[in-house]
Amino acid sequence: MFIEPKRGRSKDSRMGWIEVICGSMFSGKTEELIRRLNRAKIAKQKVEIFKPSIDIRYHEEDIVSHNQNAIRSTPINAATEILLYTGDCDVVGIDEAQFFDEAVVDVANSLAAMGKRVIIAGLDMDSTGKPFGPMPGLMAVAEYVTKVHAICMICGDIAHYSYRKVSNGNQVMLGEADTYEARCRKCYHLPDESAEKL
Ligand code: ZN
Repeated sequence: MFIEPKRGRSKDSRMGWIEVICGSMFSGKTEELIRRLNRAKIAKQKVEIFKPSIDIRYHEEDIVSHNQNAIRSTPINAATEILLYTGDCDVVGIDEAQFFDEAVVDVANSLAAMGKRVIIAGLDMDSTGKPFGPMPGLMAVAEYVTKVHAICMICGDIAHYSYRKVSNGNQVMLGEADTYEARCRKCYHLPDESAEKL
């Protein structure tokens, strides 16, 4: 007897997927993440949001984008902790994913296999122009990748580099406009005596 596979709205049979929103600083990654999550909430979907506990720039339990559009979130230390908190939710948001360990790739795949929509935002490059942490792996396994851009603070072209104006020797450095500038490819490589990269 042929049994037609379940389709559509049943949570048990639905396959999930992974979306990545990547880009430089000041490119609106978190705003785009919040926009997608808020639309899901309006549709009465259960949404859980996580970020690495290293990102405590503003408020410990809010994702706060630069335009003060806040969404409550859970700060966690390791990516695998996400699996402990996502039991019955439909949509899982992860912000600042570049700070997580590589395990976040397997976590995202597991969540999608459970039928969840996974939306991940993060910096694709560090300030030296190198791929940042687990972001390349996440982009590889995602169904959808959106690269958002900033505006070059030197010339006004489209920018995709996060240029660090002050160096402290670490890849991870939290900061805002006093530490970083969005720059285009041309201006990123400008010689600048007043600023040093790693
Ligand atoms: Zn420029």
